[in-house]
Amino acid sequence: MTDVIVTANSGSSSLKFALYPAEAGARKPLLRGEVTGIGSAPVLSARMGEHALVVTEPLNAIPADATHEWLITQLLQRLRGEYVMYRPVAVGHRIVHGGPTFEGPIRIDETVRRKLEDLVPLAPLHQPHNLAAVDAVSHIAPELPQVACFDTSFHHNQPRLAQLFALPRRLSDEGVIRYGFHGLSYEHIADVLPVYLGERANGRVIVAHLGNGASMCAMNGRRSVATTMGFTALDGLMMGRRCGSLDAGVVLHLIEQKGMAAADVHHMLYRESGLLGVSGVSNDMRVLEASSDPNAREAIDLFCYRAIREIGSLAAVLGGLDALVFTAGIGENSAGIRSRIAEGAKWLGAALDAEANKRGETAFHSNDSHVALLRIDTDEEGVIARSVAHALEQGGACA
Ligand code: AMP
Repeated sequence: MTDVIVTANSGSSSLKFALYPAEAGARKPLLRGEVTGIGSAPVLSARMGEHALVVTEPLNAIPADATHEWLITQLLQRLRGEYVMYRPVAVGHRIVHGGPTFEGPIRIDETVRRKLEDLVPLAPLHQPHNLAAVDAVSHIAPELPQVACFDTSFHHNQPRLAQLFALPRRLSDEGVIRYGFHGLSYEHIADVLPVYLGERANGRVIVAHLGNGASMCAMNGRRSVATTMGFTALDGLMMGRRCGSLDAGVVLHLIEQKGMAAADVHHMLYRESGLLGVSGVSNDMRVLEASSDPNAREAIDLFCYRAIREIGSLAAVLGGLDALVFTAGIGENSAGIRSRIAEGAKWLGAALDAEANKRGETAFHSNDSHVALLRIDTDEEGVIARSVAHALEQGGACA
C-alpha cells in the first residue's frame, strides 16, 4: 500500500485532483484527474502516470447535479474501496483567497476554517467551492490532516505601492488592497524557471497565466513584484467570462442610471463578460479560434490587445524584460495567441521563432531575441502536494 497526499483544486465549474506519493519533494503524481462541467454536464477524465486512465462505470456515472462536495466524497470513498492500494495521509486544497492573514500554507483547524469563511465575500465564485471540499473531507475522514494552500500567498510580499489602491486610507487599513491570484501557478513557474533560464531566471520576468481565469505576474528574483489581478480575481486581463479591468464609473452607471441590482451587476461582470460577452459565441478560446464570426474575432483581438497593454505596464515596473512565459490552458495550447502577444512585445526586444512556437516547444524565441519566450506547463497540484508534505514534516503550519 502506498501512502498518498490527495490534492484538490476546486474551480467554479471544475475539480482537479491528484494523488502524490507522501514523500517530501515528490514531483510526479501517481494519478491525476479532472471533472469539468460541474453544474451543467460533468465529465471526468483521469491519467495514471503518463497514460490516460480508462474510466469505467460506475466511476464515470456522475449525476448532472453533482457538487464539488459530492465528488470529493466519492474520491475518498473509492480510495477506501476499489483503490485500496493508495492510503491517503493528508489532503491539500487550493484556497483562492488567504486575505491579509495567511502568508503561506497552513494546517486547517476550526479557527483557520472560520477565518477562511470570513474571506468568502472576497472570492464569492471560488472560495465556497474550496471550502465545500474541505468540509466534505472533514465529514468523511475527520482524522485526515488538511492543508490550505493560497493563491494569494505568492504576492504577499509585493512592494506596498503595488498593493495600494488610491482610495481613502481607512479602506486600505481594513484590507481593501490588491492581493493578486494564481499564486500556486506562479510559484511553480518560479520554481522551475532556472531549469530553462539558468541565472537569467532571477532577472525581469513576466509570466502570463492565460486560462479561463487569466492574469500576469511580474517577477524579479523569482518573487512577485506586481500582478494584474487585484482585490478580487475580476481585475486585470480579459478572461473567459470575466471583464478584467473596468472603469469603476461603468459599475456606477449600471447601478445609478440603468437601475441594475448589485447581484445582477455581479453576475454580468463575473459570468457574462470577457470572451463570452464580447463574442456572444463562447468563453472557450478553442471555439473562438475555429469561428468565422466577426464578433469572435474581435473578442480574440481584444484579449490579445489587453494582454499586450498589461505587458507594457508590467515591463515598466520591472524596468525592462528578460523573459516572457506563457502558461495555463490558452498559454500552453494556443500557438496563435502566444504568437500575437509575443509580437506585441517586439518593442521590448522579443523576437519569435514562429516554427518553434507552432511545434509547441518550450523555448520559442529566435537566436537574436533579447527576451526569452517560453511555454511552460503549470502544475498547481504539484505545488500543493509539496506544501502538504512540508507541513506534515513540520507537524502543522509551514508559513
Ligand atoms: P484552464 O483554465 O487553464 O484550464 O484553461 C482553460 C481554457 O484553455 C479553455 O477555456 C480554453 O479556452 C483554453 N484552451 C485549452 N486548450 C486549448 C487549445 N488547444 N487552443 C486554445 N485554447 C485552449
